[in-house]
Amino acid sequence: MLNIVNVGYDSTNYYVIETAATKLLVDVGFPGTLPKLNHALKRTGITLSAITYLLVTHYHPDHAGLAQELKQQGMTLIVLEPRVAAIPELKRYMKPQYHYQEIMLDDNVTTSLAQSRAFLHGIGIDGEIIATPGHSDDSVTLVLDVGIAFIGDLRPPQMITDETLQRSWEAIRAHQVQTIYPGHGPVYRLAEATSG
Ligand SMILES: [Zn+2]
Repeated sequence: MLNIVNVGYDSTNYYVIETAATKLLVDVGFPGTLPKLNHALKRTGITLSAITYLLVTHYHPDHAGLAQELKQQGMTLIVLEPRVAAIPELKRYMKPQYHYQEIMLDDNVTTSLAQSRAFLHGIGIDGEIIATPGHSDDSVTLVLDVGIAFIGDLRPPQMITDETLQRSWEAIRAHQVQTIYPGHGPVYRLAEATSG
């Protein structure tokens, strides 16, 4: 079983990946938007307490702002080892009126990109987390073996403007991805790469 449910709000997509074994949330909203998330969840029949894990594609306010609040609700944040340094940087984007709750570093589960397949397998998800810098240095993409990728805010292939983006898309294509679930906007099919 594999279900992907968009529980997004405020022009950003947040996806619940549901397998027989687990429910994983990909990205979260701004600080203080827990009621909005709960409202979005209510429409889907998924309860917040049923979501066990949270993965953040990159540490920007509209993708990670609510992370600590969700951890307080019982969710476990999956942190990629080389991305730990990006977490404290998040507070730079936060204005005082956001009432941002800083993401604590000592109560997450940590894995490396190289170990991510084994880690995901252990929680019942077949896939891998790969580095896809371009939108930000810390950006990662979650690739599911069924050919789906959660890319966060990586620019689409038709908007590749530099080497970094080029390499990130090559890495995604190397995983036989067909369908892209972006952080903003609709899901799209990945066209075959044209050569020459
Ligand atoms: Zn975004």
